[in-house]
Amino acid sequence: MVRTEALLYGGITHKSEKEQDLYYGRLLEDSAGPVVIRLFDVGGDKLHVLTPDESNPFLGWRGIRMLLDEHDMLHSQLRSILKCAGKFQSRIRILAPMVTNIEEVKRLKTEVAKVQEELANAGHPIDREVPVGIMVEVPAVAIMADSFAKEADFFSIGTNDLTQYTLAVDRTNDQVGGLFQHDHPAIWLLIREVVSAARSNGIEVSVCGELASDLLGASALIGLGFRELSMKPSSILKVKGWIREFDLETFEDFAKDACGAKDRKEVYESFRKRFYPSQ
Ligand code: PEP
Ligand code: MG
Repeated sequence: MVRTEALLYGGITHKSEKEQDLYYGRLLEDSAGPVVIRLFDVGGDKLHVLTPDESNPFLGWRGIRMLLDEHDMLHSQLRSILKCAGKFQSRIRILAPMVTNIEEVKRLKTEVAKVQEELANAGHPIDREVPVGIMVEVPAVAIMADSFAKEADFFSIGTNDLTQYTLAVDRTNDQVGGLFQHDHPAIWLLIREVVSAARSNGIEVSVCGELASDLLGASALIGLGFRELSMKPSSILKVKGWIREFDLETFEDFAKDACGAKDRKEVYESFRKRFYPSQ
Protein backbone atom coordinates (compact mmCIF):
# COMPACT_ATOMS: atom_id res chain seq x y z
CA MET A 1 0.00 0.00 0.00
CA VAL A 2 1.41 3.39 -1.00
CA ARG A 3 0.71 6.27 1.37
CA THR A 4 0.51 9.45 -0.71
CA GLU A 5 0.51 12.12 2.01
CA ALA A 6 4.22 12.83 1.43
CA LEU A 7 3.13 14.54 -1.79
CA LEU A 8 1.52 17.20 0.36
CA TYR A 9 4.42 18.12 2.61
CA GLY A 10 5.92 21.59 2.43
CA GLY A 11 2.88 23.77 3.10
CA ILE A 12 1.14 23.32 -0.25
CA THR A 13 -2.52 22.57 -0.83
CA HIS A 14 -1.68 19.79 -3.21
CA LYS A 15 0.96 18.86 -5.76
CA SER A 16 0.15 19.84 -9.30
CA GLU A 17 -1.45 17.15 -11.40
CA LYS A 18 1.66 17.04 -13.58
CA GLU A 19 3.89 16.31 -10.57
CA GLN A 20 1.48 13.63 -9.40
CA ASP A 21 1.46 12.09 -12.91
CA LEU A 22 5.24 11.78 -12.73
CA TYR A 23 5.14 10.30 -9.24
CA TYR A 24 2.53 7.60 -9.94
CA GLY A 25 4.08 6.84 -13.33
CA ARG A 26 7.48 6.21 -11.69
CA LEU A 27 5.86 4.03 -9.04
CA LEU A 28 4.31 1.78 -11.66
CA GLU A 29 7.38 1.70 -13.90
CA ASP A 30 9.63 0.73 -11.00
CA SER A 31 7.42 -2.07 -9.66
CA ALA A 32 5.66 -5.19 -10.87
CA GLY A 33 2.18 -6.52 -10.08
CA PRO A 34 -0.69 -4.67 -8.47
CA VAL A 35 -0.07 -1.37 -6.69
CA VAL A 36 -2.52 -0.16 -4.07
CA ILE A 37 -2.53 3.64 -3.95
CA ARG A 38 -4.14 5.13 -0.87
CA LEU A 39 -5.81 8.49 -1.40
CA PHE A 40 -4.51 11.36 0.73
CA ASP A 41 -5.07 10.53 4.40
CA VAL A 42 -4.82 14.05 5.73
CA GLY A 43 -5.86 15.06 9.25
CA GLY A 44 -5.33 13.32 12.59
CA ASP A 45 -1.55 13.16 13.06
CA LYS A 46 -0.91 13.97 9.39
CA LEU A 47 -1.24 17.72 9.37
CA HIS A 48 -1.75 19.76 6.26
CA VAL A 49 -2.12 23.40 5.38
CA LEU A 50 -5.90 22.88 5.14
CA THR A 51 -6.20 21.08 8.49
CA PRO A 52 -8.21 23.25 10.89
CA ASP A 53 -7.39 23.61 14.56
CA GLU A 54 -9.49 20.81 16.04
CA SER A 55 -9.83 19.73 19.66
CA ASN A 56 -9.94 16.02 18.65
CA PRO A 57 -8.06 15.77 15.35
CA PHE A 58 -8.23 11.96 15.23
CA LEU A 59 -12.00 12.19 15.43
CA GLY A 60 -12.15 15.11 13.07
CA TRP A 61 -11.72 16.08 9.45
CA ARG A 62 -9.60 13.17 8.29
CA GLY A 63 -9.09 11.02 5.22
CA ILE A 64 -12.18 10.46 3.08
CA ARG A 65 -14.16 13.05 5.10
CA MET A 66 -11.82 15.77 3.97
CA LEU A 67 -11.44 14.47 0.42
CA LEU A 68 -15.18 14.46 -0.19
CA ASP A 69 -15.31 18.11 0.94
CA GLU A 70 -12.22 19.19 -1.01
CA HIS A 71 -13.38 18.59 -4.56
CA ASP A 72 -10.26 19.99 -6.33
CA MET A 73 -7.85 18.03 -4.19
CA LEU A 74 -9.76 14.78 -4.70
CA HIS A 75 -10.29 15.29 -8.40
CA SER A 76 -6.70 16.16 -9.20
CA GLN A 77 -5.51 13.08 -7.32
CA LEU A 78 -8.11 10.84 -8.96
CA ARG A 79 -7.37 12.23 -12.42
CA SER A 80 -3.70 11.56 -12.01
CA ILE A 81 -4.15 8.04 -10.59
CA LEU A 82 -6.77 7.10 -13.18
CA LYS A 83 -4.65 8.34 -16.08
CA CYS A 84 -1.89 6.12 -14.77
CA ALA A 85 -4.34 3.21 -14.35
CA GLY A 86 -5.26 3.62 -18.02
CA LYS A 87 -1.61 3.35 -19.04
CA PHE A 88 -0.85 0.43 -16.73
CA GLN A 89 -3.99 -1.66 -17.23
CA SER A 90 -5.14 -3.87 -14.31
CA ARG A 91 -2.28 -2.80 -12.05
CA ILE A 92 -3.70 0.04 -9.93
CA ARG A 93 -6.11 -0.24 -7.03
CA ILE A 94 -7.49 2.79 -5.22
CA LEU A 95 -7.79 2.72 -1.44
CA ALA A 96 -9.89 5.12 0.65
CA PRO A 97 -8.69 6.01 4.18
CA MET A 98 -10.78 6.60 7.31
CA VAL A 99 -14.09 5.38 5.94
CA THR A 100 -16.96 5.33 8.46
CA ASN A 101 -20.15 5.23 6.39
CA ILE A 102 -21.29 3.32 3.31
CA GLU A 103 -22.43 6.64 1.85
CA GLU A 104 -18.77 7.76 1.71
CA VAL A 105 -17.87 4.72 -0.38
CA LYS A 106 -20.78 5.34 -2.75
CA ARG A 107 -19.87 9.01 -3.12
CA LEU A 108 -16.24 8.18 -3.80
CA LYS A 109 -17.22 5.64 -6.46
CA THR A 110 -19.44 8.26 -8.09
CA GLU A 111 -16.48 10.66 -8.21
CA VAL A 112 -14.25 7.94 -9.67
CA ALA A 113 -16.84 7.23 -12.38
CA LYS A 114 -17.14 10.98 -13.17
CA VAL A 115 -13.39 11.39 -13.53
CA GLN A 116 -13.18 8.21 -15.66
CA GLU A 117 -15.82 9.64 -17.97
CA GLU A 118 -14.02 13.00 -18.28
CA LEU A 119 -10.77 11.22 -19.08
CA ALA A 120 -12.39 8.94 -21.64
CA ASN A 121 -14.02 11.96 -23.32
CA ALA A 122 -10.64 13.66 -23.47
CA GLY A 123 -9.20 10.63 -25.27
CA HIS A 124 -7.27 9.03 -22.41
CA PRO A 125 -7.19 5.24 -22.14
CA ILE A 126 -8.91 4.16 -18.93
CA ASP A 127 -9.13 1.00 -16.85
CA ARG A 128 -12.89 0.43 -16.48
CA GLU A 129 -12.34 -2.19 -13.79
CA VAL A 130 -10.11 -0.18 -11.45
CA PRO A 131 -10.94 -1.54 -7.96
CA VAL A 132 -11.95 0.89 -5.22
CA GLY A 133 -11.24 -0.51 -1.75
CA ILE A 134 -11.48 0.83 1.77
CA MET A 135 -9.30 0.91 4.84
CA VAL A 136 -11.01 -0.91 7.69
CA GLU A 137 -9.74 1.17 10.58
CA VAL A 138 -12.89 2.41 12.28
CA PRO A 139 -14.67 -0.21 14.46
CA ALA A 140 -18.07 0.63 12.90
CA VAL A 141 -16.77 -0.61 9.56
CA ALA A 142 -15.37 -3.82 11.03
CA ILE A 143 -18.64 -4.52 12.85
CA MET A 144 -20.63 -3.93 9.64
CA ALA A 145 -18.02 -5.45 7.34
CA ASP A 146 -20.62 -7.58 5.58
CA SER A 147 -22.50 -4.49 4.37
CA PHE A 148 -19.32 -2.64 3.41
CA ALA A 149 -18.10 -5.70 1.47
CA LYS A 150 -21.08 -5.28 -0.84
CA GLU A 151 -19.94 -1.78 -1.78
CA ALA A 152 -16.12 -1.94 -1.59
CA ASP A 153 -13.98 -3.98 -3.99
CA PHE A 154 -11.43 -4.94 -1.33
CA PHE A 155 -10.54 -4.34 2.31
CA SER A 156 -7.27 -3.29 3.85
CA ILE A 157 -7.30 -3.49 7.64
CA GLY A 158 -5.38 -0.57 9.17
CA THR A 159 -4.32 -2.06 12.48
CA ASN A 160 -2.80 1.17 13.84
CA ASP A 161 -6.02 3.13 13.67
CA LEU A 162 -8.28 0.14 14.32
CA THR A 163 -6.43 -0.28 17.63
CA GLN A 164 -6.57 3.42 18.42
CA TYR A 165 -10.31 3.71 17.80
CA THR A 166 -11.35 0.36 19.31
CA LEU A 167 -9.41 0.82 22.53
CA ALA A 168 -9.90 4.60 22.69
CA VAL A 169 -6.14 5.16 22.98
CA ASP A 170 -4.45 8.02 21.15
CA ARG A 171 -1.72 6.35 19.09
CA THR A 172 0.59 9.35 19.50
CA ASN A 173 0.23 9.83 23.27
CA ASP A 174 3.14 8.23 25.20
CA GLN A 175 1.29 8.71 28.46
CA VAL A 176 -1.15 5.97 27.45
CA GLY A 177 1.30 4.12 25.19
CA GLY A 178 1.04 0.98 27.35
CA LEU A 179 -2.68 0.80 26.58
CA PHE A 180 -2.08 0.82 22.84
CA GLN A 181 -2.39 -2.97 22.57
CA HIS A 182 -2.80 -4.02 18.98
CA ASP A 183 -2.90 -7.65 20.13
CA HIS A 184 -5.88 -7.10 22.47
CA PRO A 185 -8.59 -9.81 22.04
CA ALA A 186 -11.08 -7.16 20.88
CA ILE A 187 -8.84 -6.47 17.88
CA TRP A 188 -8.63 -10.16 17.00
CA LEU A 189 -12.41 -10.48 17.17
CA LEU A 190 -12.86 -7.53 14.82
CA ILE A 191 -10.25 -8.81 12.39
CA ARG A 192 -11.92 -12.23 12.38
CA GLU A 193 -15.26 -10.56 11.52
CA VAL A 194 -13.70 -8.64 8.66
CA VAL A 195 -11.99 -11.74 7.22
CA SER A 196 -15.21 -13.71 7.40
CA ALA A 197 -17.25 -10.93 5.71
CA ALA A 198 -14.63 -10.56 2.97
CA ARG A 199 -14.62 -14.30 2.33
CA SER A 200 -18.38 -14.67 2.19
CA ASN A 201 -18.63 -11.74 -0.23
CA GLY A 202 -15.70 -12.88 -2.36
CA ILE A 203 -13.49 -9.82 -1.91
CA GLU A 204 -9.81 -9.64 -0.95
CA VAL A 205 -8.68 -8.55 2.47
CA SER A 206 -5.16 -7.58 3.45
CA VAL A 207 -3.67 -6.11 6.56
CA CYS A 208 -1.41 -3.11 7.10
CA GLY A 209 -0.13 -1.16 10.08
CA GLU A 210 2.44 -2.48 12.55
CA LEU A 211 0.63 -5.57 13.81
CA ALA A 212 2.38 -8.11 11.57
CA SER A 213 5.83 -6.83 12.59
CA ASP A 214 5.85 -8.80 15.80
CA LEU A 215 5.86 -12.58 16.09
CA LEU A 216 2.64 -12.82 18.06
CA GLY A 217 0.80 -10.53 15.66
CA ALA A 218 2.08 -12.30 12.56
CA SER A 219 1.21 -15.72 14.08
CA ALA A 220 -2.41 -14.81 14.79
CA LEU A 221 -2.81 -13.20 11.36
CA ILE A 222 -1.55 -16.34 9.62
CA GLY A 223 -3.93 -18.37 11.79
CA LEU A 224 -6.81 -16.11 10.77
CA GLY A 225 -6.14 -16.81 7.10
CA PHE A 226 -3.85 -14.01 5.90
CA ARG A 227 -1.22 -15.14 3.42
CA GLU A 228 0.36 -11.76 2.77
CA LEU A 229 1.62 -9.62 5.63
CA SER A 230 2.75 -6.03 5.56
CA MET A 231 5.55 -4.93 7.91
CA LYS A 232 8.53 -2.66 8.24
CA PRO A 233 11.52 -3.97 6.24
CA SER A 234 13.60 -4.57 9.39
CA SER A 235 11.07 -7.22 10.58
CA ILE A 236 10.83 -9.26 7.38
CA LEU A 237 13.67 -11.74 8.01
CA LYS A 238 12.66 -12.37 11.62
CA VAL A 239 8.97 -12.94 10.82
CA LYS A 240 9.68 -15.05 7.72
CA GLY A 241 12.03 -17.34 9.66
CA TRP A 242 9.45 -17.68 12.43
CA ILE A 243 6.55 -18.58 10.13
CA ARG A 244 8.62 -21.31 8.48
CA GLU A 245 9.25 -23.01 11.82
CA PHE A 246 5.63 -24.01 12.54
CA ASP A 247 2.79 -25.74 10.75
CA LEU A 248 -0.43 -23.99 9.81
CA GLU A 249 -2.45 -25.83 12.46
CA THR A 250 -0.38 -24.29 15.25
CA PHE A 251 -1.11 -20.80 13.92
CA GLU A 252 -4.81 -21.60 13.52
CA ASP A 253 -5.07 -22.98 17.05
CA PHE A 254 -3.35 -19.89 18.40
CA ALA A 255 -5.67 -17.56 16.45
CA LYS A 256 -8.69 -19.39 17.94
CA ASP A 257 -7.26 -18.92 21.43
CA ALA A 258 -6.55 -15.22 20.75
CA CYS A 259 -10.15 -14.64 19.63
CA GLY A 260 -11.53 -16.49 22.65
CA ALA A 261 -9.23 -14.91 25.25
CA LYS A 262 -10.83 -12.81 27.95
CA ASP A 263 -7.84 -10.52 28.21
CA ARG A 264 -4.45 -9.87 26.68
CA LYS A 265 -2.73 -11.95 29.36
CA GLU A 266 -4.53 -15.04 28.07
CA VAL A 267 -3.40 -14.23 24.53
CA TYR A 268 0.22 -14.18 25.75
CA GLU A 269 -0.23 -17.41 27.74
CA SER A 270 -1.60 -19.20 24.68
CA PHE A 271 1.26 -17.85 22.56
CA ARG A 272 3.80 -19.25 25.01
CA LYS A 273 2.00 -22.58 25.29
CA ARG A 274 1.63 -23.06 21.50
CA PHE A 275 5.02 -21.79 20.38
CA TYR A 276 7.34 -22.38 23.37
CA PRO A 277 5.77 -25.51 24.93
CA SER A 278 8.88 -26.48 26.86
CA GLN A 279 9.21 -23.17 28.72
C1 PEP B 1 -3.22 2.13 9.93
O1 PEP B 1 -3.99 2.92 10.48
O2 PEP B 1 -2.95 0.99 10.37
C2 PEP B 1 -2.57 2.51 8.65
C3 PEP B 1 -1.93 1.64 7.94
O3 PEP B 1 -2.65 3.79 8.29
P1 PEP B 1 -1.80 4.99 8.95
O4 PEP B 1 -0.86 4.37 9.94
O5 PEP B 1 -1.15 5.67 7.82
O6 PEP B 1 -2.87 5.80 9.58
MG1 MG C 1 -4.71 4.66 9.39
